[in-house]
Parts: sequence; structure tokens; C-alpha cells
Amino acid sequence: MANNIDLANLIFPNINLTIEDLEKRYPKRDLPMDALVTRFAPSPTGFLHTGSLFTCLVSSFFAKQTNGVFYIRLEDTDTKREIEGSGASLVEQLSIFDIIPDEGYISDDKEIGLYGPYKQSDRKEIYEIVIKHLIEIGRAYPCFCSSIELAELRKMQEEAKEIPGYYGKYAKYRDFPVDKAIEKIKNGDPYIIRFKSLGDHNNKIFFHDEIKGDLELTQNDQDIVILKSDGLPTYHFAHLVDDHFMRTNVVTRGEEWLSSLPIHLELFDTLGFERPRYAHLPVIMKTEDGIRRKLSKRKDPEAAVSFFLEQGYPKYGFIEYLLTIANSNYEAWRNENLDKDFYDFKLSFDKMSLDGALFDIAKVANISKERMAYKKAEDLLIEVKSWAKVYDLDFYNKIISDEDKFIKILNIDRQKEKPRKDYAKYSDIYPVISFFYDENYYSIDKTNLEWNPLMDKKDIKDILLNYPKTIDLSLDEENWFNSLKEYGKNYGFAADKKEWKANKEIYKGHSGDIAEMLRIALTGRKNSPNLYYVIQILGIPEVEKRIKTVCENL
Ligand code: GLU
Repeated sequence: MANNIDLANLIFPNINLTIEDLEKRYPKRDLPMDALVTRFAPSPTGFLHTGSLFTCLVSSFFAKQTNGVFYIRLEDTDTKREIEGSGASLVEQLSIFDIIPDEGYISDDKEIGLYGPYKQSDRKEIYEIVIKHLIEIGRAYPCFCSSIELAELRKMQEEAKEIPGYYGKYAKYRDFPVDKAIEKIKNGDPYIIRFKSLGDHNNKIFFHDEIKGDLELTQNDQDIVILKSDGLPTYHFAHLVDDHFMRTNVVTRGEEWLSSLPIHLELFDTLGFERPRYAHLPVIMKTEDGIRRKLSKRKDPEAAVSFFLEQGYPKYGFIEYLLTIANSNYEAWRNENLDKDFYDFKLSFDKMSLDGALFDIAKVANISKERMAYKKAEDLLIEVKSWAKVYDLDFYNKIISDEDKFIKILNIDRQKEKPRKDYAKYSDIYPVISFFYDENYYSIDKTNLEWNPLMDKKDIKDILLNYPKTIDLSLDEENWFNSLKEYGKNYGFAADKKEWKANKEIYKGHSGDIAEMLRIALTGRKNSPNLYYVIQILGIPEVEKRIKTVCENL
């Protein structure tokens, strides 16, 4: 009579290594006691989700702050959902946010580290060694059910109001005689491998999650599939083998996995592997019409990290926003420690939100505004340039045509104690400053400018045409404005609004009106950055030229 060993040898004739061999190949890491080994384990299914970046950031942060190891593992066992090349592009997108793994998968032909391979499809032998062992000890078995049979089972369970699934008395092949199984395999019957659970769904298990705290969960009793018909393992099984042999000590993953935790715990215990700690991170949510829901790939552009990159949100703004979601005390810390690197913040599991984090794009914008405002123009130049090179070539060409000019433009109202906070993203900049570049300015329709209808066109013309002669670029902002007031007086304009209001009959307007005329003439718009700097940056000849062009159309 054949036994489990015969069955295991039949299924995996070429597997001679054992779990002990793997234990030796992947020794425990030589790290300080409290160093965390964490990982990011994406499936290459397309794009980097905002929620994944969040999970990844938190995982790498914990490793970094404990001098541990953060690695990337590519979970590519679901070949149907795989999108070619997306693994490497995930790693690339992470690097834009300065999230660089210490080891792991980098691209399809590059990985770093001694605990690899880091791509699940390259780890078949490792899974087979473990499954072979499970078959030998009678805790895994081949199941020959067809998908039709499984669908019928489910239907019957639903009708009988039973818990659906392949378990207990419904697990048709769990006690199938080994001889017969061998015969079927030899006969070429298709099969998959299932784990044999010894659990009972009437029992409870207790578990401590790093974030959720003490949990009471229903014990697993499902004989889950561990090896699919395509020869690749399922997530439940693969993550466990990998996290064990890659020596992860805290599994940080989305809370959507919490419900399958009992399966994972049973597998760890069955194999005699030490359980890692688990930290189930909040899922990123959104409110729509007062209802909370998960950030959705299909409905929400902000679900894709690429959206933020395209829009040009600075990476530090976005990362810091995610940190405010991660720990409720981050913002207060940041306000107290503006000059520190955000990695100096002490991230902790127990300050994580428990019931989903609400995504708030306005807050991403606010944080970005704050941070961008305090950036040195020289540093911002580098950031904006590299963004524009990819996403706005016209803007890029303008920047590189004269970088000093661009720095001066960026410096408008920047180098002061309370800098202006008007840019939330790189794409906000060009629309505000485009008029500085002649090509843009001269293509504005000058017959359609928004002059104040209360002003006499002849006055506007005289005031504008005579103004350049009076410009003294050496004046500071305050004195320049005083000189503008004086200039206006010559044409019957009050020095300020208050004076004009009190004596409307003797004045044509006030200095603000003069400034508006100049602004419209020099920028083509009623709103622009500080006029004093506009004049400084354009210089007298260009101011003169622009005024002439405008006056030809007045
Ligand atoms: N591959 C899984 C996913 O993309 C990873 C879950 C985990 O981190 O364990 O959701």
C-alpha cells in the first residue's frame, strides 16, 4: 500500500531538498533585537495605488527607524492579472518618493540581497519543497475537483444556508485513499494541491495585531488551495513561505487581509515556523455623498500615485500628507520641528488610525503649499525643471532659456519671514508666471484687456506711456510704491484709496488704479505676482516695449 511519501515523490520527483536545507540557506538575520524586517509585496497588476504607496512608506519607515531591513518582493503568481513591465515601474515610482529598498526585487533582471529570489515566480522550487513536506506529513493533498463540481458545491451550500467553501465534510478529497490519488495522477487527471486544515469554525483564536490590538477571530477550517493548476502557489501560502525564509519579523499589509489571517496562522503553526508579528494598516477611504468607501481605481484619479506625479505635487508634500494619515501626532510634531527631516519623526503602530483613513486632497495641497513656500528658489528650480521636462515641455523650455530669470521669478515674495503660499504643485506655477516670457506675453490679445471702465482711455495711455521714464530700479519696494503714488498725483490720482473715497469729486482715482493699469499693461491680466518684482525682472526696456504695444491698441 502506498503512503504519503510515495504520493509526495510522485508529485515532486525532482525535489530532494528539505525545509532544513532552506533554513540553512536563509539563516536568521544578524540584526539588533528591535530591528524590524519589513517588506512591500506588490502584485504587478498595473500601477502604484495611493494605498500601496502608503503601506510601502510605513513599512520602509519602520525598518529605517529601527536600523532594520526593508525589501521588495514581487508577488506575481496571479498570471492572469499581471501587466508586463509593471513590477519594475512600481520600483521606479517608489524611487521618485525616495523609497529605496535595502534589498529585493528591482526589475525583472535585477535584484539585490541574499534572501532571494525576490520574485515569486522564480521561487517555485522553494514552494515545492515546503508543499512536498506538507504532503509527506499528511497536511496537504491533491484535489481532483473540477470547477463545475466546486460551483455545484457552492450552490448547494448556499441553498442549505451553510458556510460556503471546501472544508470538513465538503472537502471531497481530504481523506481520499492515497492509492487512488496516485492512480488518478498517473492517469493524467488534473489536480491542484490543498492544505488540510484541522480547524473548526466554531472555535475562536486570539491574536495580537500591532495596530488593531487584541483580536478574537474565527478559527480557519477551509482546505485552501496552496498550489494552483498552473504550478504556482496562492498568495496565502506563498507569502507565508516567503515571509518566513526572508525573515520578515513584522508583516505590514492592508487590513483587507485580516480576514484571512486565521489561515496564515494555521499554516505557520503547522509548519512549525515562528509567527511573524502582523500590522494590518488602515485602508484609504473617501467620502462620497456622505458615504465612506475605499479609494477606487476606477472612480478616483487620486487612487493612482501617477496622478500626483503628473499634477506635480512635490513628493515631500505627498509623503508628509501620508504620514499625517499614518500617525495622528505627525502634524503637531512637524509644526514643532520644521527644520527636521521627516524621518526624524518617531512613527508608531499604536497611533495608527483604526478604521480606515480618509483621503483629503485639499490637505495634500495645503501641506505642499506650506513646504514649497519655504523651499529655496534654487532647490525649487531643480524640482520644477525635472517635473516640467516630463510633463510640460513648453514650460521646461522657458525655464532653461534663462534659469537665473526663473529663479528671480520664483523668489517673488519668497525670501521673507512669511513667504507667499500660492503654489501647491509644480503645474500651478506656469499659468501664474507665463507672461514673463515674451512669446506668451506678445501672443495675448491686446484689444481685449480688462481695463477699468471708469478710467478714461486717454488718461490710461498718457499714464502708461510716460511711466517708464520715472522708473528707478534701485528703489526698494516701499519707496517704489511711494514713487508710484507721486506719479499718480500728477494725473489727478489720490495717493491712497481712503483719500480718494473721501474726495471722489476732485480725484480721478487712486494709486491702486495706476498700479492696475501697469499690471494689465505688463502682464495682460488683472492679477499677477507683485508688480514691483514684475518691473524689476522685466527691466526698463521691456517695460517700455510692452507699454507701447498695449497703447497701440488703446
Ligand atoms: N500581493 C499582495 C497585494 O498586492 C500583498 C499583500 C501583503 O503585503 O502581504 O495585496
